Amino acid sequence: MNPIPVNEILLDGNEKKYLLECIETGWISSEGPFVKQFEEQFAARVGRQYGIAVSNGSVALDTAVVALGIGRGDEVILPTFTIISCAAAIVRAGAIPVVVDCEPHTWNININQIEEKITSRTKAIMVVHIYGLPVDMAPILSLASKYGLQIIEDAAEMHGQTYNGLSCGSFGAISTFSFYPNKHVTTGEGGMLVTDDEELAVRCRSLRNLCFQPQKRFFHEELGWNFRMTNLQAAVGVAQLERLEEFVARKRYIGQRYTELLKDISFLELPIVKTDYAENIYWVYGVVLKDKVPFDAEEAMRRLAQYKIGTRPFFWCMHEQPVFQKMGLFNNVSCPIAERIARRGFYIPSGLAITPEQIKRVASCLREIFS
Ligand SMILES: *Cc1c(COP(=O)(O)O)cnc(C)c1O
Repeated sequence: MNPIPVNEILLDGNEKKYLLECIETGWISSEGPFVKQFEEQFAARVGRQYGIAVSNGSVALDTAVVALGIGRGDEVILPTFTIISCAAAIVRAGAIPVVVDCEPHTWNININQIEEKITSRTKAIMVVHIYGLPVDMAPILSLASKYGLQIIEDAAEMHGQTYNGLSCGSFGAISTFSFYPNKHVTTGEGGMLVTDDEELAVRCRSLRNLCFQPQKRFFHEELGWNFRMTNLQAAVGVAQLERLEEFVARKRYIGQRYTELLKDISFLELPIVKTDYAENIYWVYGVVLKDKVPFDAEEAMRRLAQYKIGTRPFFWCMHEQPVFQKMGLFNNVSCPIAERIARRGFYIPSGLAITPEQIKRVASCLREIFS
């Protein structure tokens, strides 16, 4: 039987045509016209004034933290259940990550536990929408205005998703996206910052481009990075963005199919279909082993691998990362909900190119591992 990889992508739109254009015109660096086009179209798609394309979603977070002036001694609140890039951006800026547990069903940050973490040193809340459902933003926006905090919104998994009808990626002082191949829109590697604040946009552009100065190019007031996106990547991005509606519909179909096929398996907690403010877009289709299952996610993934089904574990909590513990961070932190899903959760093949037959086979193999 053929393996079913955890993610397969679709590049059968205008990608080839636009890439060819790059080669024929010789524009392959970040100076090419697709970069600006992608920035403008992407920003418009999420209702933002400015888009700043960068080389990936992780460095978009690094740029956001520094652009907002967050540094030594400042605290930033974030979910413990997220990718390392979030906490890494905070730590690399010299600031202190303060983690919050997640909710058991949406897997998003528990909004009721944020306020107790706010201190006089808190500068920002880094909101991360996890796996397909957005964070309940309204209470976070009120907290931010009550305490004068910035919001950094990591919308890496949220292309095309809305919260109460407003685009994810429209909520932060700066919001960020990733275009890694498992995201709804891919450029191979790539990322984007979006904002409505012109000054912040200028800062992000400068940080992305080594803080070269317009008038005196090689004279530096500040240290930036080379985080530029190439015209080749942006060409793919423009073609992908043309199909975002279709991609979201496809992801929803994949999610609904899995739910139909898996809902009677009494060993699994499945992703919830919708909340009061959004319908799941299933960035990935995650499942959590119920407590009565006598093995953990690692064993479940091992069993699925025997059927050549690709999987990925859930995120591992930030407060349980050896790299941060060695730095003396997160002493005595406990987040039982996130710790549980990190051990019992994993996701199954749910990329845009998956076929209905493959979905069926994954579902029936998943059933098998409990027998
Ligand atoms: C994918 C992802 C990132 C990182 O993006 P890269 O482009 O892989 O660096 C950041 N945050 C979240 C929530 C992600 O899912």
